[in-house]
Amino acid sequence: MAKKLQENIKIDAELCTGCGRCSEVCPVDAIEGEEGKPQSVNVAKCVMCGQCVQICSAYDSPFEQYATSRSQRLKERNMPIVKEPLFAAYYHGDFFKVKKRLADKKQFSMVQCAPAVRVSLAEEFGMPLGSLVPGKMVAALKRLGFTRVYDTNFAADLTIMEEGSELVKRITEGGSLPMFTSCCPAWVKFVENEYPELIDHLSSCKSPQQMAGSMFKTYGASVDGVDAREVYSVAIMPCTCKKFEANRPEMKSSGYQDVDAVLTTRELAYLIKEAAIDFNALPEESFDKPLGMYSGAGTIFGVTGGVMEAAIRTAYELITKEPIENVNVTSVRGEQGVRKVTLDTGALKLKTVVVSGLKNVIPILEDIQRGKADFHFMEVMTCPAGCISGGGQPKMLLPVDGRKAYENRKSSTYQHDEEQRYRKSHENPEIQDIYQKFLGEPLGHKSHKLLHTHYKPSR
Ligand code: SF4
Ligand code: SF4
Repeated sequence: MAKKLQENIKIDAELCTGCGRCSEVCPVDAIEGEEGKPQSVNVAKCVMCGQCVQICSAYDSPFEQYATSRSQRLKERNMPIVKEPLFAAYYHGDFFKVKKRLADKKQFSMVQCAPAVRVSLAEEFGMPLGSLVPGKMVAALKRLGFTRVYDTNFAADLTIMEEGSELVKRITEGGSLPMFTSCCPAWVKFVENEYPELIDHLSSCKSPQQMAGSMFKTYGASVDGVDAREVYSVAIMPCTCKKFEANRPEMKSSGYQDVDAVLTTRELAYLIKEAAIDFNALPEESFDKPLGMYSGAGTIFGVTGGVMEAAIRTAYELITKEPIENVNVTSVRGEQGVRKVTLDTGALKLKTVVVSGLKNVIPILEDIQRGKADFHFMEVMTCPAGCISGGGQPKMLLPVDGRKAYENRKSSTYQHDEEQRYRKSHENPEIQDIYQKFLGEPLGHKSHKLLHTHYKPSR
């Protein structure tokens, strides 16, 4: 893996006080340096989760003189002129790259928005923590000039179709079990870095971001009658590692880079502010079809346990051929770092594990290596509350605000799930349509080419 791709997260030595808050949250001990002295990021270990960026509270004081000017710092970070302070720990942005492409009115652009963005974006505009604003977010993206406002949630439904089928196939026909989810790129990176011998346990499914990218430049392009090379594909993500994922060399199944640029929630807020769009006054608008329609299962991908719950809703029905009794699988929701849940499908007791936080997964991985694992499926998310607490989300300086934000974003996510007409991925009519018209069947030839990948050891 090219080293440059991994140098996404940095610490500004001039601003760093060496307080050590970042090392406390780093799940892989990638922050190095003596206490009280500027810290640095060990690029080989870092999984680019951005938790250090979220927690760092040392910033450029207007009362201090620095060798580096604020404008140089902004340039280094690829950030526009913003009023907010610049913190020591930061990530490289894609603000200018996207702004330039959107300024070209001939550009045919498609944008996707991760589930966790719609429950946090409004915080950047002074609305209460966790406000649910999918319609305003769509309206803002349309005013920014995106030609099609599509959705990662659609691709989350697609992920469930593929991942649920893959799980059933591994259980019934054989394959590496337990199977691991592969939606969280920092978790995938961690397996590649630290547990390469367990790579076969990762689902071969691409993450929803990458499935959306390849669908945009194939099916989406054909719906609009444009050539894939003309499509500029942008993803709005709560996650800093998604920038890395989009640039992985294997993510070109459409024949082009499937996702051309990734903006975090905060970067989208900069774009909206810079364009002087009055976010709070925007009307509610709808995602475009076909790649913008989603089920409740697609939206809960944003919280820890969400991928598992979405998968259970579909896998239960795939296995039993009967409707699931209660679509709210509350047993997989919760605060604990590890939740073990067995689902009785009659034919099979499906044993599942949900993990949030990489440190919590280490004992489980060691059990698997010792041949002691007794379960079928494991969801892992690197960030503490899932993507809603990702490194690219609005920054909360006080821990009390962080906890409140996570709580509110989570309840808005479940509220959004309950508001949807369809709650199961396989019932999304656009998903059914796309299999009929384009993909064929889950795990079929075309799905394999566009929606699956292979991971490789980093060492
Ligand atoms: S990067 Fe920020 S959180 Fe980490 S040691 Fe420096 S000042 Fe503290
Ligand atoms: S991005 Fe995540 S893994 Fe990398 S140094 Fe920061 S906290 Fe650690």
